[in-house]
Formats: sequence, structure tokens, C-alpha cells
Amino acid sequence: MKIICVGRNYAAHASELNNAVPDEPVLFMKPDTAIPQARAPFYLPDFSNDVHHEVELVLKINKMGKNIQEKFASNYYSEIAVGIDFTARDLQNKLKEKGLPWEKAKAFDGSAPMSSFIPIADFPDKKNINFSLLKNKEQVQQGNTADLLFNFDKLVSYISKFFTLKKGDLIFTGTPAGVGKVSAGDRLEAFIGDKLMLKVNVK
Ligand code: MG
Repeated sequence: MKIICVGRNYAAHASELNNAVPDEPVLFMKPDTAIPQARAPFYLPDFSNDVHHEVELVLKINKMGKNIQEKFASNYYSEIAVGIDFTARDLQNKLKEKGLPWEKAKAFDGSAPMSSFIPIADFPDKKNINFSLLKNKEQVQQGNTADLLFNFDKLVSYISKFFTLKKGDLIFTGTPAGVGKVSAGDRLEAFIGDKLMLKVNVK
């Protein structure tokens, strides 16, 4: 199982980090060790002083595919979750400056907590799904799939040109604006629509 993550997929988030809006999806990966145990807290890593939350919708691939055409892409996923792409922003900025890969800042242990998955068919329009993140009961991020630069079908098609997608693979589809630092004691709550899906305590 692999986790493919998409960077800069909401224009307002790309600009809050002073990044250009990309003309192709920005991809990176996390290993399965990035997934914590269910309901485990998030432990701040000792190699960063600036870990950010990035709330994202997550797709689960339901069958193997390679070079998937966009018009068939929706046959390759049927469930969605909300997750947090925890990011060591200080370390990522150092790596970016040097032109080095982001993995140490993005793919570390426990950096990809997720909710349980729900059928995407539960939503009348997958191009209009709201999701949000509360930090200590205050909303810090709010997104809607209408604002994706590359929608789910485009992502699945694009990713499958490079990486064969297998059943159980996960795609973190990108974060909206409002990313920010987490500190020990913070309580994060992630929602799809009005439904509380995921709680993460920061330690
Ligand atoms: Mg992200």
C-alpha cells in the first residue's frame, strides 16, 4: 500500500506559502509507517519546531489501474476520508531552498492520520464536498472540492501515468488555505460536511 499526496492543489493555499499555482499536479509520497494507530495522539517530532496541520480529503483506490483515462477514473475509487498531512514546515523550507526532496518533512512516522472511509456515493455531487478543521474548537481550515485545481478524476488519471495504482492505495488530495502550527495540547477535529470524522490530540 502506498500513499500519494498532492501539493498545491488549492490556489489560495499555494499563494499563502508563496508558491506559484502549478500547471501539473505536484506529487510526493508517504510510507505506510506515516499512518498512526487509530485514535493515537500525534507526537510532535523532535526535528521540527514548526509542524503544520494540512487537512485534506483522502481517496481510497478500489482496483488496480495504470494509464487510467480521466473519463474512467471514477471507477477506481468509491470511498473518501478526511486526513491530516502533518508537515514539518521549517524542515520543508530548508529542503525546498536546497532543491532537495521533501520526504523528511512530510513522510515521517505518524504524519498521516485519517478518519474511517465513507462511500463517495453518499454525496450528491463530488465536486461540491465541504470539509474543515477545527483547532481547539475554532475553525482554522475550510475547503470545498469545487476549488480543487485538479479534481479527483484528473488526479487519478495523472498519478496512474507514473505509478500503477493498486487496491488500497490512498491519495491525499491537497489542502485548502489556513495551514498553521500545532502545539502540544492542541485538539484537532476534522469534518466532512457537518460530520465529525477524525479527532487528533497533539502531544
Ligand atoms: Mg498537503
